Amino acid sequence: MALIVQKFGGTSVGTVERIQQVAEKVKKFRENGDDIVVVVSAMSGETNRLIDLAKQITDNQPVARELDVMISTGEQVTIALLAMALIKRGVEAVSYTGNQVRILTDNAHTKARILQIDDTRIRADLAAGKVVVVAGFQGVDEQGNITTLGRGGSDTTGVALAAALKADECQIYTDVDGVYTTDPRVVPRAQRLEKITFEEMLEMASLGSKVLQIRSVEFAGKYNVPLRVLHSFQEGPGTLITLDEEESMEQPIISGIAFNRDEAKLTIRGVPDVPGIAFKILGPVSGANIEVDMIVQNVAHDNTTDFTFTVHRNDYQNALQVLEKTASELGAREVIGDTNIAKVSIVGVGMRSHAGVASRMFEALAKETINIQMISTSEIKVSVVIEEKYLELAVRALHTAFELDAPAKRTE
Ligand code: ASP
Ligand code: MG
Repeated sequence: MALIVQKFGGTSVGTVERIQQVAEKVKKFRENGDDIVVVVSAMSGETNRLIDLAKQITDNQPVARELDVMISTGEQVTIALLAMALIKRGVEAVSYTGNQVRILTDNAHTKARILQIDDTRIRADLAAGKVVVVAGFQGVDEQGNITTLGRGGSDTTGVALAAALKADECQIYTDVDGVYTTDPRVVPRAQRLEKITFEEMLEMASLGSKVLQIRSVEFAGKYNVPLRVLHSFQEGPGTLITLDEEESMEQPIISGIAFNRDEAKLTIRGVPDVPGIAFKILGPVSGANIEVDMIVQNVAHDNTTDFTFTVHRNDYQNALQVLEKTASELGAREVIGDTNIAKVSIVGVGMRSHAGVASRMFEALAKETINIQMISTSEIKVSVVIEEKYLELAVRALHTAFELDAPAKRTE
């Protein structure tokens, strides 16, 4: 008998019919003898609808505490509906809000972090044979204020509960049947991965693969919670995310290719090449609360140098303003901005033990005459910035070069 935490996302509980399907599924697990804790999101679209209401009332400036009071209601609806659907099917069930469980968080409204989970109530209910249904995305601070965990936060609730309860597995049910080598909409021959490590998943998630909230993967890695991504309504093994790196000959060097179009590039040209210049340029940027991703400083000519970095596209205008101010203070030659860029990354723990991975990547891009504008590497990934219009071509070329394409389907 296993203890399983199952999380169902917004589309999986998006209609009454779907909630009933989820109830049927949970019932089957329960009848198998497993102890089940279910975490649900709000019905799809609901959180957006609520946020929009708040914006209408407040000229786009909702007070974070009150916003949390409101947006936490979406999940309160789905826990009750799912518990009702289970009870109607003869499955003993009980629903709890984050506050009722006592999922204690800090007080950072709309992006709170879980500090502690009281498992007393849940354990007692499980011992009494009940399925426990818990609201995702929400908690409560020391003072009793309702908090929320950031968009997509129900994943984190699921993982945190699984960690607190030392569950055998945390199953994330969603509208895809697992984690893919890359986005199948870009590469039709992308394949579902049987397994991926937390580390790789973290890179994939932070590089734009949107299957799981990043924080939930961090959490799962930290507490070693086996995490499985599965399709809500199709049978299949899904993708297991775990700690162990298998030492197998067949293990591909690259597990996946991630990409995003969310970045913009800024260059400040002709700045004096003196100590402290990077700080002078990036200090004001981080002072404006803008996160910088990639950074490149050129080798100096004539005692001046060029400095390039990328930021999230939403921060582009702000960053440009900050940089122009810095440029005039430093007497820089010019500031150039470019929003038509994309980042493509290859990710894989296999890189640690294989040389030449980056050059294989560059070769594949060169064959397609795709110009690389920036490069950054870490132990398990290589990222490049390229012109946005070549993004799909680049991803397809890399998917083939690293032998990730699914075998062609036979047509006869
Ligand atoms: N309902 C929340 C959201 O839409 C949390 C979640 O779905 O995970 O972001
Ligand atoms: Mg989600």
